[in-house]
Amino acid sequence: MLKYCTRCVMPDTKPDLLLDAEGICNACRNYEQRKAIDWDTRKRELEALLDRYRSRDGSQWDCIVPVSGGKDSTFQVVRMLQLGLNPLCVTATTCDLSELGRKNIQNIKSLGVDYMEFSPNPVVRRKLNRIGLTQVGDISWPEHAGIFTIPVRAAVQFGVPLLMWGENSQNEYGGPAAAARDNVLNRRWLEEFGGLLGLRVSDLVGLDGIAEKDLIPYTYPSDEELKRVGVTGLFLGYYLPWDGYANALIAQANGFTTYDTTVEGSIVNYENLDNHQTGIHDYFKFLKFGFGRATDIACLHIRRGRITRKDGLDLVKRHDGKFPRTYLGKPLEEILAPLDMTTDEFTRVCDRFTNKKIFVRDAAGNLVRDKEGNLSKINDDNQART
Ligand SMILES: [Zn+2]
Repeated sequence: MLKYCTRCVMPDTKPDLLLDAEGICNACRNYEQRKAIDWDTRKRELEALLDRYRSRDGSQWDCIVPVSGGKDSTFQVVRMLQLGLNPLCVTATTCDLSELGRKNIQNIKSLGVDYMEFSPNPVVRRKLNRIGLTQVGDISWPEHAGIFTIPVRAAVQFGVPLLMWGENSQNEYGGPAAAARDNVLNRRWLEEFGGLLGLRVSDLVGLDGIAEKDLIPYTYPSDEELKRVGVTGLFLGYYLPWDGYANALIAQANGFTTYDTTVEGSIVNYENLDNHQTGIHDYFKFLKFGFGRATDIACLHIRRGRITRKDGLDLVKRHDGKFPRTYLGKPLEEILAPLDMTTDEFTRVCDRFTNKKIFVRDAAGNLVRDKEGNLSKINDDNQART
């Protein structure tokens, strides 16, 4: 049975999330501690750091900013420009880029930056999507690997030592204390917290005809290469107060376009707009752990006092974990077609990764679905409301 944080609406099934004696989760505690942070000091630390890395004679970019084109990366680029930096923006193209995602990438370029887009081999990527989904229950495995490896490879390639990442997901979303406090993203952080689910690049060689040479974009540079350039990856969210919603407002004021309605499975219209596979990714999180994107977003807003916990519960109940029939308007069949997977096969894969202890089953032990294909959690109401 799921136990929920008494302050936000996160269940304790979330990996690395801990509830303390008062039933409050570590993400809520991290947020509480942010109030004690002296942001002026942090900002000065940031300015000193940037001064250290800034190209003295203008012959080189000052830093690399890994960007997706989303609200957070738009915000990052706006801030870097305000701080007087000349960044090289690097995008790893998403696995199934939406029109809106493309539009927002164009918008980032128009802010006035040098920009590079790296698109890994789509034939290999489709195989990796399928392997990720069927072996570790995550269609987005290649995307999660690539967004962390490709900008670091670019840093080595172009000899730009500083990488400015966005937020440390371990802080806002809950994670081990040391990881949440840390301001550095390195190989160890990626391996532990980058969401690779124990599937290593070396495990993939030989599967479905994949050779080592197909995996270059997903391979982190060697320690020697990193040392030669002096690559340092920092989280901007450590130095500036980070709020996805505020970032969305600033991004919109700088040309970022939102979706015309709330995104399927979410409760907002301003994030995860660039990849049609994201709905499947979020749904598998729900099947494994009993929470989806609506829960993540509700928690962020509850912590900041923008909605009550009661309202959050209501929104989550109505929007979280719905069977991903469409995402950003694209039907599931079309999203699965490049993976050579039918919706029937997809449903069977779903079943394999569903935590049967948290969803309602019939007398024969089979998962119960409503006519839309949705599951329901056992005793959810009682648990969440106490
Ligand atoms: Zn909490």
